[in-house]
Amino acid sequence: MNFSVFGTTAAELAEVQHARYRDPDRAQRKIDALKRSIAECEAHGIKASANIVVLDHSHAPRVHRLLDEYSPYLSVRLLNSLDHGAVSIEAIERILSERGAVAESHYITAGVSGARTAYRLPDGRRVFFKQIRPVRLPDTCAGCQLNNDTDCQEGFYGVRLHYDRTGRHQVGVCIQRMDPCMPLGEFVTSPKRSEILALREADYQRLTARLAG
Ligand code: SF4
Repeated sequence: MNFSVFGTTAAELAEVQHARYRDPDRAQRKIDALKRSIAECEAHGIKASANIVVLDHSHAPRVHRLLDEYSPYLSVRLLNSLDHGAVSIEAIERILSERGAVAESHYITAGVSGARTAYRLPDGRRVFFKQIRPVRLPDTCAGCQLNNDTDCQEGFYGVRLHYDRTGRHQVGVCIQRMDPCMPLGEFVTSPKRSEILALREADYQRLTARLAG
């Protein structure tokens, strides 16, 4: 279960809501619901992760609060903001150093842009720093108008399953565009599926060769 954490206190969460929903009581109910959901995951042995985007070092208290005041069962992933560039990356590195974190392992999934580095905190807990690799689908992305480093910073993030208004499952291959979506039944026999598998295989071979060298 992945939770996106936009605020760790009611005031913080209310601040990032649309003006119509900027209500501290409502925000507090959401925070309480988040804590209850994490507790339910723990009670039922379901893995729970929190993604928290760090724009700059002014976000450090939010991260420290998440680590100090929320259940240690929660796996915390720090994400840099692609719009904030080096400032965001440096802020995450500084926060990790403030916690005495030591880098332990680096995880790359072949064929998708998300990668992460695991850090070990002095109390034994692990925290992840999630980053993006430049991965594109060879055919789908080649003809895309957004295919440049500014308009498409996330690249191919993996396959997503959507549920449409008619109750059908749609497979999405882009987190910015919905038009390449196709019904699940169509997807499994389509060239898109082969394109994704071929990309994964080629990326796996490239990564393996690089690590072996
Ligand atoms: S926006 Fe989507 S389709 Fe376009 S280049 Fe990026 S990942 Fe590919």
